[in-house]
Amino acid sequence: MAQVSTCRHNRRVDYCGRFAPSPTGPLHFGSLVTALGSWIDARAAGGRWLLRIEDLDTPRNVEGAAQAIQRTLADCGLHWDGAIIRQSERRERYRAALEQLVREGHAYGCACTRSEIAAVATIGVDGPVYPGRCRDGPAAGRTPRAWRVRVDGTPVAFTDRIHGRVEQQLETALGDFVVLRADGIFAYQLAVVVDDAQQGVTDVVRGADLLDSTPRQIYLQRLLGLPTPRYAHLPVITNALGQKLSKQTRAAAIDAREAPALLRAALAALGQDLPPASASRDAMLAFAVAHWPPQRIPARTAATSPDSPAR
Ligand SMILES: [Zn+2]
Repeated sequence: MAQVSTCRHNRRVDYCGRFAPSPTGPLHFGSLVTALGSWIDARAAGGRWLLRIEDLDTPRNVEGAAQAIQRTLADCGLHWDGAIIRQSERRERYRAALEQLVREGHAYGCACTRSEIAAVATIGVDGPVYPGRCRDGPAAGRTPRAWRVRVDGTPVAFTDRIHGRVEQQLETALGDFVVLRADGIFAYQLAVVVDDAQQGVTDVVRGADLLDSTPRQIYLQRLLGLPTPRYAHLPVITNALGQKLSKQTRAAAIDAREAPALLRAALAALGQDLPPASASRDAMLAFAVAHWPPQRIPARTAATSPDSPAR
């Protein structure tokens, strides 16, 4: 469903971006920076910008959070195109992708418990590296709990628009990784790959906390015969203690009345030229789209918090 938009210069562009928050709490300053960066990049390219609610991890979902995120985006002038996609309504598509992986010999059932793996595994980028115990089938009498994708020692590399060349060897960094969890929830890695392809996303602009996930997603795209989008990983915003802003670190929710000041602070975090502080919300956004050198985005940014929008 990739759609083609026409940009201001009458040039036909094929750019489709997205913002894909999990409804685990209200939008905070860190997620605003991500939303803003991806929105400006899409608008500066004359492209579309989609909103996808990543609500598969149901135990972590917070009642009303998705609606609160939508309201805050609208309050900040970040309007999305088309209908909102909710991952919880798309499980059949993820199941079809898993069945394709299994059918083609790329995925297998794993009977190991977390503690069995932890007892023998080394630690990789995302916890214990799976040692491959069930690669040839679970031990006699054991029932598969989760489904894993078989990886090999070939490095997966890509060129990030901000971080440059990134390379990861999945075998040593993760081992065969989970695509359907033991609790029956499809893994983020599989769902995001299916959604990006089916929504025709050409440009993924998201937080650098997901940089380590990208090689897994590219690997899955290749196994499933799906295109690989361009990637840009924006700096992760930390609080004064150096912690990533999140619900766990009690990041403050965005107050819509502060939108102009927060948008200006978010532009500063993205290394961009700043509009006058007196500018209205929409004037700030128009300025940001007109002055968008993505090359200026820093790989890392200094601690910034909603309490100190001037920094
Ligand atoms: Zn296993």
